[in-house]
Amino acid sequence: MTPAAVAPPPRPLIGPDELRAAVARLGAELSRAYPMGVLLIGVLKGSVPFLADLIRAIDTDVAVDFLAISAYTEGTGRVRIVKDLEGDIWDRDVVLVEDIVDTGLTATYVLGELRRRGPRSVEVCTLLDKAVRRLVPVSIRFVGFEIGDEFVVGYGMDFGERFRNLECIMAADVHALRADPNAYFDALYTR
Ligand code: 5GP
Repeated sequence: MTPAAVAPPPRPLIGPDELRAAVARLGAELSRAYPMGVLLIGVLKGSVPFLADLIRAIDTDVAVDFLAISAYTEGTGRVRIVKDLEGDIWDRDVVLVEDIVDTGLTATYVLGELRRRGPRSVEVCTLLDKAVRRLVPVSIRFVGFEIGDEFVVGYGMDFGERFRNLECIMAADVHALRADPNAYFDALYTR
């Protein structure tokens, strides 16, 4: 019998200092782009830490709303809104805030929904852009980091609801996590 493969350890990809610097840069870019104010729309739940930091890096009028989406069927890219916005976005300058844009299917769907509601403008701000994985083109005006084809967790991003609270972004072996959801528990949570 061959021994079970050992999961490669999670690898730090983006540390807290780099995250802080990127958020400060994006906050300055957004402040410059929207001197009269902006409505940020966070996609739950992954964007929460990023959005919380980002609003404090913006020094113009900023309002926040949230929506939550869920896949109809995992892996198909078909999504639906499970929690809608509270407010009207008609004639507003809107920025969709994402943790990560991967295939682009989610952002494309959400942007379509938002545009139907008649905002004055809609742009995308994503912390991470996994551009090499794109299946549908998405125009992203504000980008924190472009990353390669890696599965990442931390700073809002999860695997099975875990790891959102890490203060850095780690690259993890998603196959190892699927095989054993506890694969990285000790490495990431036990100090
Ligand atoms: P899409 O493929 O539609 O662009 O991305 C959909 C969603 O998949 C993202 O909003 C994010 O929740 C999730 N996702 C994509 N890549 C990763 C990743 O590397 N790590 C984690 N934790 N989630 C991801």
